[in-house]
Amino acid sequence: MRPIKELIWHCTATPEGREVSVATIRQWHKERGWSDIGYHKVVHLDGTVEDGRPEATVGAHTSGHNTGTIGYVYVGGCDAKMNPKDTRTDAQKKAMLALTRQAIAKYGLKKVSGHNQYAAKACPSFDVRKDPIGNLV
Ligand SMILES: [Zn+2]
Repeated sequence: MRPIKELIWHCTATPEGREVSVATIRQWHKERGWSDIGYHKVVHLDGTVEDGRPEATVGAHTSGHNTGTIGYVYVGGCDAKMNPKDTRTDAQKKAMLALTRQAIAKYGLKKVSGHNQYAAKACPSFDVRKDPIGNLV
């Protein structure tokens, strides 16, 4: 297994309340010329979690920060007008907390962060550092 020291959270940048399948995200990313979906796990509106790219494989989610990290995404992150918004459902928040805890236990992560800490982007539309998921390590 490759060493993984950090989990970076993302949003799909899709409108509040709209579900997005792993198959759809995979298709978007393949259209960009990538080999597979760029994220390792996808958290749906109802809190169910689906696997994306295998965690043993380096992801494609944060430019310059894919080596040594894993990238998880929640479905949502925009309002109806496509402005950034923290649209996480209670079920998503719960699932994200559980997934973050699992990853910390499994890989001994040293850091949990958000895409917006590495790029001038809103993604994941909230500040991980001020969220419970950012305060577990
Ligand atoms: Zn992102």
